[in-house]
Amino acid sequence: MHTFGGGVKKAVDEARGLVAGLVGAEPGEIIFTGCGTESDNAAILAAHAADPRRSHVVTTRVEHPAVLALCIKIEKNGHRVSWIGVDAQGMLDLEEIRRAVRDCTGVVSVMWANNETGVVFPVEEIGKIVKSAGACFHVDAVQAVGKIPLDMRRSAVDYLSLSGHKLHAPKGVGALYIRKGTKFSPFIVGGHQEMGRRGGTENVASIVGLGAACLLAAKNLAEEQTRVKTLRDRLEKALLEKAPDARLNGHPERRLPNTSNISFEYVEGEAILLRMNALGICASSGSACTSGSLEPSHVLRAMGVPYTAAHGSVRFSLSRYTTEEEVDFVIEHLPPIIRTLRELSPFGRA
Ligand code: PLP
Repeated sequence: MHTFGGGVKKAVDEARGLVAGLVGAEPGEIIFTGCGTESDNAAILAAHAADPRRSHVVTTRVEHPAVLALCIKIEKNGHRVSWIGVDAQGMLDLEEIRRAVRDCTGVVSVMWANNETGVVFPVEEIGKIVKSAGACFHVDAVQAVGKIPLDMRRSAVDYLSLSGHKLHAPKGVGALYIRKGTKFSPFIVGGHQEMGRRGGTENVASIVGLGAACLLAAKNLAEEQTRVKTLRDRLEKALLEKAPDARLNGHPERRLPNTSNISFEYVEGEAILLRMNALGICASSGSACTSGSLEPSHVLRAMGVPYTAAHGSVRFSLSRYTTEEEVDFVIEHLPPIIRTLRELSPFGRA
């Protein structure tokens, strides 16, 4: 009821409009959350609770842990979950989805693009299958938003998750698109914030940052898609040529323009990362250190990538801020790192 508060509300509403604009939604279809993980949890739990007669869940084996762990929990609570696999290029089999989705299916949750390989899933085709069975469709678009064009007006998606830090907004803010008319019960209950759909005081500064990031992403998307892809392809081509026994993980075409996942056989991904980090090169490894033992990535395992290759995988993520000089720097320095590590490798492959 006071001018000061009104100004803050206006800033949040503007940000809501900018997020909606980037994904072709109405402002009233967007709620702000704390992160992509919260958006995923909120959407899947709301969809799962929407109709108790439809408790079957369909998801994939290559989801982010934000979806994976929740679906495992739903399964442990006694509900059926169908896990869709991928082929050697990380692509989903639509026939398998068609067979899995049934009358008792309440929610199908599929990522738009994979966070490790960048592989883009056929969301439109999957949407048709989901809708013909009368189920709810959740899409984790955390990796896709701002990198490829998305339009909720021309899609069958009921819930779409996104996260600020994947498109240069501050960390610790996300959003969830909920199609108008879709059932939704809040994940976080409390005050009436976010139209009664997410209790708790809004993180106003980060929300405003997310709005600004969405505005910039929308403005630069077409141009950056091409520029970043050209840089990514140049990096990939050079590394695959210069480093023997290197292989690309993921479909070569149906991928986000900014992601490249390469396996360097006979070396540990973590060792490569450490040496690159010493030169100021930031990348990530496909494998995660779980309870002291090095587990290869669940995504690469689902693709059937051999153990030795999965362990030596490195994911490169380019962005609007990546320059040609930076790419050339990696092309110059990474192949000698691989060579040195192979000379030291107990697998004896030099
Ligand atoms: N989904 C995907 C595909 C992601 O890549 C990530 C984060 O890396 C998340 C969900 C989780 O988002 P957040 O880190 O904002 O919780």
